[in-house]
Amino acid sequence: MRDPTAFLREEYDELVRADLDWKLRVLGGPSTPWCSIDGKRVLMFCSNNYLGLSNHPKIKAAAIAAIESHGAGSGSVRPIAGTMDLHMELERRLAAFKQAEASLVYQTGFATNAGLIPQLAGDGDLIISDELNHGSIIDGVRLSKAEKAVYRHSDVADLERVLALAERHAPAFRRILIITDGVFSMDGDIAPLDRIAAIGAEHGAMVYVDDAHGEGVLGEGGRGIVSHFRLSRETVQVEMGTFSKAFGVVGGHISGSRDLVHFAYNKSRTWLLSGSHPPGVAAACLAAVDVLEHEPAHVERLWALTRRFKKAMAHLGFDIGRSETPITPVIVGESARAKALSQRLFELGVFALPIVFPMVAKDKARIRTIMNAALTDADLETAIGAFETACRELHLI
Ligand SMILES: *Cc1c(COP(=O)(O)O)cnc(C)c1O
Repeated sequence: MRDPTAFLREEYDELVRADLDWKLRVLGGPSTPWCSIDGKRVLMFCSNNYLGLSNHPKIKAAAIAAIESHGAGSGSVRPIAGTMDLHMELERRLAAFKQAEASLVYQTGFATNAGLIPQLAGDGDLIISDELNHGSIIDGVRLSKAEKAVYRHSDVADLERVLALAERHAPAFRRILIITDGVFSMDGDIAPLDRIAAIGAEHGAMVYVDDAHGEGVLGEGGRGIVSHFRLSRETVQVEMGTFSKAFGVVGGHISGSRDLVHFAYNKSRTWLLSGSHPPGVAAACLAAVDVLEHEPAHVERLWALTRRFKKAMAHLGFDIGRSETPITPVIVGESARAKALSQRLFELGVFALPIVFPMVAKDKARIRTIMNAALTDADLETAIGAFETACRELHLI
């Protein structure tokens, strides 16, 4: 008899043969600029902890205090018995930070997209998505009964083409939802949200932006992409984000109208049917919002380091792509080149992972770096020096 689980091993082996399996690197301590990875002391150059907030003393202290006062777990899902004063306070503070009427916090960003998108558009509706949107949006869209369309990456003319087609559809769509990432994580480019919002308004469509990589980075004091473009919440109705990146903790969230929040928490299955954040997490997120409000220096430092890094790398002759944010790809061509570079960088004390086909085009393999505000000037010079040494050795520049 054939083993019904044989595919597990077969499919895994296939990935290993193609060198497409994930090899886990283990942090032996906090995610700080100098950290221990697989026992080696290296400079962290690829975490999403943009502002270093995962180790901010006020945020750590808030988590510890909340565990003491409220316990290790919340005891339930939010709608039944798992809403604590900390969760409510976090949502009030986040809405004030975002200058929105209301905010709602989910367990993760993934759970937000997977839980909310299928509720915003269903049978008889249309979802229009940027072709490079994040996997959690793609899964959220797949869970919806709506019709689906894709427009070319950040191409507003193509978005208008799709909308014009949609308007000729019979029977007419009840609702149209346009979804885009705010900052695209592979190239670090920013969505033309100002033009998308204007087009959405023209066509009576809802606009949903996933600002996971824009928060803590773009806009006034790191308020995100809606602030960056100074857009009205009447044209970007759903601003979605995560506490797992620049906020340094974990959790997803949306900001918008009170109607949006009431609708979202009554309808999102991920929110209704999955346990709420432990008190330590809610308190840490709350403290992270507080830090962003009161310590704008972190965001300024992030940008100062980003500008210096991009300038130095371009000067050395690297192809750093079209990024407009602290995500800086170092594009080297074939997959094997990116993998060799990552390996050599690690030996030289810099940790940055290669991104290769199928995540990016075959000839656009890269090392994706993410700047961190907690780096010192000397750390930055060390990293640039390591890139230069490794690339000269490998004849990449
Ligand atoms: C990371 C990311 C998410 C998922 O957020 P989590 O809170 O980590 O689940 C969603 N969308 C985008 C664009 C992301 O980069």
